Amino acid sequence: MLSKRLLNFESFEVMDILSLAQKLEKEHKVIHLEIGEPDFNTPKSIVEEGIKSLKEGFTHYTDSRGILELREKISNLYKNKYKADINPDNIIITGGSSLGLFFALSSIIDEGDEVLIQNPSYPCYKNFIKFLGGKPVFCDFTVESLEKAISNKTKAIIINSPSNPLGEVVDKEIYEFAYEYIPYIISDEIYNGLVYEGKCYSAIEFDENLEKTILVNGFSKLYAMTGWRIGYVISNKKIIEGVLKLQQNLFISAPTMSQYAALKAFEKETEKEINNMIKEFNRRRKLVLKYVKYFGWKVNNPIAAYYVFPNIGEDGREFTYKLLKEKYVALTPGIGFGSKGKNCIRISYANSYENIKEGLKRIREFLDER
Ligand code: PMP
Repeated sequence: MLSKRLLNFESFEVMDILSLAQKLEKEHKVIHLEIGEPDFNTPKSIVEEGIKSLKEGFTHYTDSRGILELREKISNLYKNKYKADINPDNIIITGGSSLGLFFALSSIIDEGDEVLIQNPSYPCYKNFIKFLGGKPVFCDFTVESLEKAISNKTKAIIINSPSNPLGEVVDKEIYEFAYEYIPYIISDEIYNGLVYEGKCYSAIEFDENLEKTILVNGFSKLYAMTGWRIGYVISNKKIIEGVLKLQQNLFISAPTMSQYAALKAFEKETEKEINNMIKEFNRRRKLVLKYVKYFGWKVNNPIAAYYVFPNIGEDGREFTYKLLKEKYVALTPGIGFGSKGKNCIRISYANSYENIKEGLKRIREFLDER
């Protein structure tokens, strides 16, 4: 019998869709617009540095905090970009930002604590919160809605900007409200840097001394390093000491070769490759938006990350499975992100321009044939 904790845990629907898509793939060309990872390969210089570290014998555990060189580079990045009062002791390197998020929540959540999350938001949030005995409280990210959702049990808010699945950035007034009234701000900034219009804030801009902030970021999205499993947590020393105990007991250290490889993410040559990737994402975003508007679907203004989340005016889950089985286009149903996503689907444009175009054409046929 599975533990009660695990019975409460929901599977990650996008992975279920992917596995069905892979089954169909044996006989049909499936277009993948469900998965949230860049189709680009990791920049060459990063890959080479990873290989070099292996060849040179860096095949052992590292310090549980992560190698100092990498923490220094991350610290300098935030110091220079945001003028934050930060040093390597404020940072711990984790096995992906997923683990960083789990650590962040584990370090502050007690039984019954409430955590505010956006409706819709990344499905892991609610699962992690529940797993730790906390209560996810879904709300809109408007001041009025936050005011209603807040209670004396509110321990934290998770702000994800740019956001999955909305592709939006979070407004300044939401940060200001959160910092005034909520004990902890967990800021998932994994899509930071993938912004095509407007300004995206980092939580650190509102809390230079890191009193309330637990910032989670990583290399998966911006540097196309999903398979390397490397991320980090930034916070005050007290929180980091807590997270360190978890890391030591559960994972010892983040993958060593990935830590060395990530050092190259900060180099000029990588920047050029990343900028090309960002340009290409923007081109694809415009293509998806053009079709979505042509289909007559309601859509917000996605200016970041690589998702479009239209309201299709009918049950998104039914639509997704039917479309996959009939036209072999894989999307993600919106309901997994929160009740507001019931009539929505998430289209990920982390696939080639040609594949996206083909996928959208098939969706058009699907709609025309009904
Ligand atoms: N946060 C968000 C909002 C995400 O979309 C994802 C990946 N889909 C992650 C965190 C986890 O990324 P990783 O563990 O690869 O760093």
